[in-house]
Amino acid sequence: MKVFKFGGASVKDAPGVRNLAEIVRTQGQPAVVVISAMGKTTNALERIVRAYTDGQTDVVSRELDQLRTYHTGIMGELEGDFSAVGQTIDGLANYLSAPSTNLYDETYDQIVSLGEIISTQIVAAYLTQAGISTRWVDARLLIRTDATFREGRVDWDETSRLITETISTDVVTITQGFIGQTVTLGAPARTTTLGREGSDYTAAIFAYCLDAESVTIWKDVPGVLNADPKWFDDTVLLEKLTYQDAIELAYYGATVIHPKTIKPLQNKNIPLYVRSFLKPDAPGTVIGNFEKNVSVPSFIFKVDQVLISLHPNDFSFIAEDNLSRIFGRLAQIGVKINLMQNTAISFSVVVDNTDRVPALLDQLKQDFRVSYNDGLELVTIRYYDQATIDRVLVNKKLLLEQKSRNTVQLVAKDLM
Ligand code: ASP
Ligand code: MG
Repeated sequence: MKVFKFGGASVKDAPGVRNLAEIVRTQGQPAVVVISAMGKTTNALERIVRAYTDGQTDVVSRELDQLRTYHTGIMGELEGDFSAVGQTIDGLANYLSAPSTNLYDETYDQIVSLGEIISTQIVAAYLTQAGISTRWVDARLLIRTDATFREGRVDWDETSRLITETISTDVVTITQGFIGQTVTLGAPARTTTLGREGSDYTAAIFAYCLDAESVTIWKDVPGVLNADPKWFDDTVLLEKLTYQDAIELAYYGATVIHPKTIKPLQNKNIPLYVRSFLKPDAPGTVIGNFEKNVSVPSFIFKVDQVLISLHPNDFSFIAEDNLSRIFGRLAQIGVKINLMQNTAISFSVVVDNTDRVPALLDQLKQDFRVSYNDGLELVTIRYYDQATIDRVLVNKKLLLEQKSRNTVQLVAKDLM
């Protein structure tokens, strides 16, 4: 059994769906095919959630119309029995016509999860019509999580039992990435999601539970590159990558694979292929249990970073008590640390500049003198040498640097 994952970009239009069918027909039988919401549907659904909870009914109905039009357009170019899709969208409209509760994250998951339901209903109908023996499976009934909405934590025992019981090898299974369900005794089951871009993780969960022979993530890039082509024009394809390197790259923010994806695969030694849906015959990258690391330098850029520096008001040292207070605040507000460093009397963290930062600063100001610097870049280089560092820092001012044996992280500001 193989597990395939197709992201939103691969199914953003009708030719994308046809291309997926061709890949499944030629390379994926039997397979579990995990699919994301089409194109930018998840972002659109996030806008719907915000407008709905803010009571902006005009925005809700405009966005809902656009969502319907977009999917209807795709179905219009394909053959198949798409009646299930209409029902899903009507169900959403119905949900949105009732007043919202104040449980934001829970509401978010009930709404945003429907992007994947719709995309898989369309793909399954098309595959069936194209003569591929297909079964649409509701991932909400298989991926069991706790009740942490928007970041559901997987109950592996239960999920494993449900998946092995349900998935068979005689058909192509079409299922959703990103979504699951939480079940509490005596209450109705509620949909959960696994965190943005979580479909890769879903593919890894299925592969782990089924002892799959491999996972393939089909993308619009040729494989894992040593840098995002957005920042570099001379990137190289990494043909082989160890699990360890893949985890490190994902951890530091390479967006090509969701960070949680690797661990389950490594545990069972299941290879992960990252390949191009535009060139389905090209080999791409394989991530697995190799002895040697590629020593090509890899670059990860994060922009719009904030460097926050803290000095205790009472000039006490940065020791365990102060640190635990700082980490407590970060965890409580839900801000993730991209880099940290401390000296005797100061502590610095680099974080994404999100809408949570002002609240964090307010909290920290109760105990610390706070200074911050925004508009920064965080560059991580794995397998660095001085020449690569110099190249990255051209026309930039270095504010902070942290080196370990294989990885350097640079926080810099543009001089221009
Ligand atoms: N559709 C979800 C998102 O865009 C999950 C995924 O694409 O992996 O975040
Ligand atoms: Mg997506």
